[in-house]
Amino acid sequence: MTVHDFDVVIVGGGLVGCSLACALAPSGLRIGLVDQPAGPTRGLAQDQRKLALAAASVRALGTLGVIKQLKTQPTAIRRIHVSRQGDLGAVRLEASEFGREDLGAVLLAGDLGAALQSSVAALPQNVRSVAGRATLLAGAQSVRSVRVDAEHGEEVWNSALLVAADGTASPLRTALGVSVETFDYEQTLIVTSLRASSAPDGTAYERFTDTGPCALLPMSGGRYGALCGVAANEADDVLQLNAVEYAEFFQKRFGWRAGRVLDVGERFAWPLRRVVASKVIAERAVLMGNAAQTIHPIGAQGFNLGLRDALSLADVLAEAVGDVGAMDVLADYEQRRREDREQTLAFSDGLARITRGSSFLHHVGRSVGLLAMSLDAGLRAQLAAGAMGYRGRVPRLAREPA
Ligand SMILES: Cc1cc2nc3c(=O)[nH]c(=O)nc-3n(C[C@H](O)[C@H](O)[C@H](O)COP(=O)(O)OP(=O)(O)OC[C@H]3O[C@@H](n4cnc5c(N)ncnc54)[C@H](O)[C@@H]3O)c2cc1C
Repeated sequence: MTVHDFDVVIVGGGLVGCSLACALAPSGLRIGLVDQPAGPTRGLAQDQRKLALAAASVRALGTLGVIKQLKTQPTAIRRIHVSRQGDLGAVRLEASEFGREDLGAVLLAGDLGAALQSSVAALPQNVRSVAGRATLLAGAQSVRSVRVDAEHGEEVWNSALLVAADGTASPLRTALGVSVETFDYEQTLIVTSLRASSAPDGTAYERFTDTGPCALLPMSGGRYGALCGVAANEADDVLQLNAVEYAEFFQKRFGWRAGRVLDVGERFAWPLRRVVASKVIAERAVLMGNAAQTIHPIGAQGFNLGLRDALSLADVLAEAVGDVGAMDVLADYEQRRREDREQTLAFSDGLARITRGSSFLHHVGRSVGLLAMSLDAGLRAQLAAGAMGYRGRVPRLAREPA
């Protein structure tokens, strides 16, 4: 069996693992990236979801050269509109109010996946990327080893630092003995694209209802990305609706802010569970992206947060002297991620739970909350900073020029 030695081995070449490889490449460290071979229709480049990226993420991906590889340039989010069916008040955040042209952008996940894969393929020779399945091997204290089952045969990869970017189920997290806390939202998110009588004007809408959250994201080509959460036990019935029936269903849930829903595209369903690892570091190992935290998608924070994990690790390793897997290096990473991770988890979970409870007092409480937020400049600025991805210690590549 061939043995390869690396400084850092990344297991999982999803959006986060590929971003990490791109961010680490300039360090000159020897990087190994392994990702399970994709099927013909289920790969990173085939993902039909619409992702909302925070301004911080767009900035970092631009600097890494990923944005220019996109087939379709991202659609800017110029304002965010948050409302709750049946409650008074709405929060409207305008980019111009914060001296900006946009708060973020929307793109097709598959397009971003393909752009990241081409960026990885063009990285210098210090990065070795292989399609294969990695399994943790028991080993000495000074090294982490994985067996890589690749098409061309089995290999052993040794590294000073192992990164688990292997998604929600994260076999590596289990093998490292890191426990998780899970919560089933008992919701299914139905994702599609649609056309409405009012064309997208850069507004991203989030609307909360007693039966689940909805969102409309501005897209190119006059279409919107449309997300709608439904109770898990009703999901099958909703998925059986034909396109006209689903357009009516969505209209009732979302309302008329974008005018009449004219047609809807193919629908995809995602069961919603929160899975949060009890810690993000272990001996000579770091967890990031969905392997560290899988959150409710309604606040559009998951990849944004995972990208900041990756960018922060790149910052930490660029400053590390000597052993990149040493405990003090990992403790630095954990400390840098704490505030952003805690705040983003609390924010996303809070949004997901807004939908629960429909008593009169709940309505009054939420109306007061929405009105207070719509008026208080401090709260609005805090909300906008979070939406733009500026929470806690901002990684270098995501920072705005001074
Ligand atoms: C419907 C929906 C909408 C969303 N919208 C947004 C949004 O608007 N904005 C946003 O920021 N986030 C959004 N998210 C969240 C975002 O999609 C995820 O946070 C992000 O894709 C996680 O990427 P990842 O690389 O951590 O994990 P994954 O994409 O799961 O990648 C993990 C990779 O690891 C590989 N792997 C697993 N095990 C092994 C192994 N043993 N060996 C080798 N490889 C392995 C897998 O093949 C996979 O490629 C949304 C999520 C959903 C479900």
